[in-house]
Amino acid sequence: MLKNKVSMYFTNIETDPSKVQCKECNKLLSLGRYKPNLQTVSGLKGHLASCYKELHDMYLMRAISKRYMTCT
Ligand SMILES: [Zn+2]
Repeated sequence: MLKNKVSMYFTNIETDPSKVQCKECNKLLSLGRYKPNLQTVSGLKGHLASCYKELHDMYLMRAISKRYMTCT
């Protein structure tokens, strides 16, 4: 079980405690170890940064095209 802040963005996998699933893109990410006190979230943070950057860009593009369409 993840106690870190990033855990709200990931779902724990019951069948594999060493992995979590990203709630945004459903991608499986490894925590490295099975034991919670040996697990690392650095990979998760890195994933969040890239995953949410893409999402942000997507929202941004949608907002821009929406604005463009209402203007014309
Ligand atoms: Zn993701």
